[in-house]
Amino acid sequence: MQGLATLGQRIRHYRGEAGLTLDEVSERVGSAPSQLSLIENGKREPRLGLLTALAGAFGIPLTALLDERPPSERAALEIELDRAQRTDLYAALGLPAIKPGRQLPDDTLRTIVGLHRELQRRARQAIATPEEARRANTEQRLRMRELNNSLPEIDELGQQLIDEVGHVSGALTHRTVGRMAERLGFEIVHVSDLPHNARSVTDLENGRIYLPPASIPGGHGLRALALQAMAHRVLGHAEPATYADFLQQRLEINYFAASVLMPRRQAVEFLTQAKADRNIAVEDFRDAFGVTHEAAALRMTNLLTAHFDIRLHFLRVSGDGSVHRGYENDGLRLPTDVTGSLEGQFVCRHWAARAAFTRVNRTTEFYQYTDTPEGTFFESAQTGTTGAEEFSITVGVPFEASKWFRGRDTTVRRRSTCPDESCCKRPPSDLAARWDGKAWSSARLHAQILNPLPQGTFPGVDDRELYEFLDEHAVAMD
Ligand SMILES: [Zn+2]
Repeated sequence: MQGLATLGQRIRHYRGEAGLTLDEVSERVGSAPSQLSLIENGKREPRLGLLTALAGAFGIPLTALLDERPPSERAALEIELDRAQRTDLYAALGLPAIKPGRQLPDDTLRTIVGLHRELQRRARQAIATPEEARRANTEQRLRMRELNNSLPEIDELGQQLIDEVGHVSGALTHRTVGRMAERLGFEIVHVSDLPHNARSVTDLENGRIYLPPASIPGGHGLRALALQAMAHRVLGHAEPATYADFLQQRLEINYFAASVLMPRRQAVEFLTQAKADRNIAVEDFRDAFGVTHEAAALRMTNLLTAHFDIRLHFLRVSGDGSVHRGYENDGLRLPTDVTGSLEGQFVCRHWAARAAFTRVNRTTEFYQYTDTPEGTFFESAQTGTTGAEEFSITVGVPFEASKWFRGRDTTVRRRSTCPDESCCKRPPSDLAARWDGKAWSSARLHAQILNPLPQGTFPGVDDRELYEFLDEHAVAMD
């Protein structure tokens, strides 16, 4: 659609430059004016022979017609207006479509397109209610589960880029990322005045990617940010039309950044060796490629099933036990709400994701076997903090696959019967008998609006934690 519209625009543009009418062109290329008009309006695809004839008639090379960019700012605006007027959003208003003819001044066109952009932005914002967002998120997670969290086409693009700049192995340097940006026609500029909430800004007109002057604590390194910004162009993203599109693009740019920072070939070679040594560990993978623990763990979900037939689960869990992000294709039963949404649900406190928080020494990974109603899993978890909040990153595999992993000799074994509430959600009866109706607590408001509050007597406060806290302190005061 977009491609034909642009092609039509370019033909009209060069016809104008050549000072020819439709009839005159028709005579020279032997095609009816009505056909040419349809082509100029992006409603019909011309054959290559006709394109060659048109280029000849205009006295320009064929490549000038095939360029995918709009020929001028005016043409770009006309295309954008045409697209905006064809959306359901606009049709619902019952207003006539404007034809961007020559009488329409540039300024007016710019204003109308600006209003369309704002209309779409507001519609998207309104659509992205927590409910809609959760639903779209869940659909995406289930779709990625079907694909074993693997997107081979993006792996391929990342690998090509890595091979083109001659990167062999190890951590990618900022300098190399800068060279990649150059190849794609971008210059990376660090600024300290990015708009609020913007992680990066890309100026397509002048080929610049604006990044903050330092890494954002707890994640997104500058290399990843730069790669994500480039990814939109590499992957040919258009402005997202729906919240689901937006989520999909975000997933793809994150995947692309990972496929460059941990290229498929190098990553698979590394993991193949680790598996041969029966010593697979997220921390080693992380250090070999100079990325965060979370990025390394997520990348393993992309590769372990697709290339090693090892099924696994991944969890990022906050200090309070709620899921920030999760994935599984190994059958571990992740906690979900009635809509199937995972984010903000609480994982069993016997899982490694939460058991890891109870450790005093957290400098290395924590290993445990977790018995669940779905089977036994081997899990490794690493804790970390982002300024205000602590979190854990878990990668787990079914018991049979534990033989390939470091830490399999751990003697730690915990039993979980969640979602059975007596496992760890409901307070033990003796504690309940002791404290029911004898205490009061007020909740701290949850930072993440999407998170549901833990179910308990006091919204936001987990009864069991409350009672245990009370008991511990009551005992201390005796
Ligand atoms: Zn439990």
